[in-house]
Amino acid sequence: MKLYNLKDHNEQVSFSQAVKQGLGSQQGLFFPLELPEFELTDIDAMLEMDFVTRSSKILSAWIGDEISAHQLQERVKNAFAFPAPVVKVSDDIACLELFHGPTLAFKDFGGRFMAQMLAYISGADEQITILTATSGDTGAAVAHAFYGMDNVRVVILYPQGKISPLQEKLFCTLGGNIETIAIDGDFDRCQTLVKQAFDDQELRQTIGLNSANSINISRLLAQVCYYFEAVAQLPQEQRNQLVISVPSGNFGDLTAGLLAKSLGLPVKRFIAATNANDTVPRFLKGGEWQPNLTVSTLSNAMDVSQPNNWPRVEELFRRKTWRMTDLAYGAVDDETTKSTMRELAELGYISEPHAAIAYRMLRDQLQEGEFGLFLGTAHPAKFIESVESILEQKLPLPKELAERADLPLLSHKMAPEFAELRAFLLK
Ligand SMILES: *Cc1c(COP(=O)(O)O)cnc(C)c1O
Repeated sequence: MKLYNLKDHNEQVSFSQAVKQGLGSQQGLFFPLELPEFELTDIDAMLEMDFVTRSSKILSAWIGDEISAHQLQERVKNAFAFPAPVVKVSDDIACLELFHGPTLAFKDFGGRFMAQMLAYISGADEQITILTATSGDTGAAVAHAFYGMDNVRVVILYPQGKISPLQEKLFCTLGGNIETIAIDGDFDRCQTLVKQAFDDQELRQTIGLNSANSINISRLLAQVCYYFEAVAQLPQEQRNQLVISVPSGNFGDLTAGLLAKSLGLPVKRFIAATNANDTVPRFLKGGEWQPNLTVSTLSNAMDVSQPNNWPRVEELFRRKTWRMTDLAYGAVDDETTKSTMRELAELGYISEPHAAIAYRMLRDQLQEGEFGLFLGTAHPAKFIESVESILEQKLPLPKELAERADLPLLSHKMAPEFAELRAFLLK
């Protein structure tokens, strides 16, 4: 598999290199040179396969012969060791629940597959430092995916006070090869610090720097697989009328969905759903690309005003000659998010702010005869404080959270200064 840098098309790398490097020069994202497509009959046959077998086939279509089919299947089996069920919410809407992994969010899929790929690609004597910024869930997924791996040091930055207390407990209590830093600033500041570190060639070489957020191509490709898993669970008549609504922050999940469509998965329409950080909806409405300051919302994992993956979305539309106007969109404010969560509870479905935003867009935009799927990106208990107060009811705590809730936080605190981060990384 060859990939090119979106900022410099002459910079071309293999899949392994792209996984190790994360970003290209000038912080450019890597994008596949070839866009494979399955025949319709292939797709039908694949939808009959089990999750791991089908996912290995999808990933091998992208990755090619860099990893043997057998090795890939073994790695996929290790990474995707939990289900992604489609759960009915109303007659024409269902939720694709992506939160049955160890950190209760969809980021377990990408995080765990990336960890598997890095472990496979890197030599045993190679020292790697994973540096990543998180608005919550990526950090937990990455920390757990790499926890205890030899030769891998993981450093995770997050905006202090801007992620939920339980979310913080989930990944800032591990210790060992996992170091966490609470930054006095918002998520975009954390992301900027990470980019600065990647721009620092000397630092990058010295500590074997690697990113593990949604910009890493391996994470994105992993996420393509659960869109197929969703369709595989639907009856034929719904497959042909499918609208998928994606709660979006950095737009990795939506990019993966669009890549699934580009492989040939039948999806009639995608909806890009955001919270008040609505840079993309405003842009798609025919406006300018004009990021505002990031605002804090109930759906904090989507509090991103400069979505990293957007250049990939644009590149895919350009390469496929799809029309950007076919991408549906919408933004949902906190008040509407709350009332939507209550509406879902009345339908008998307990949800959380991120998924509720995606549901809301379906409920508003779905047309007669269509079937809507929204991504359940996190378990409601991950946002237990806000879910309980909005729904005025108690939630049981799943064991993944219960067993960490009383452990002490091990995070360092830091001002958003690159010099400080650099010194920390070199120590
Ligand atoms: C990360 C995250 C999102 C946003 O996903 P992107 O790929 O960044 O758009 C949505 N919901 C939850 C719960 C998340 O953790």
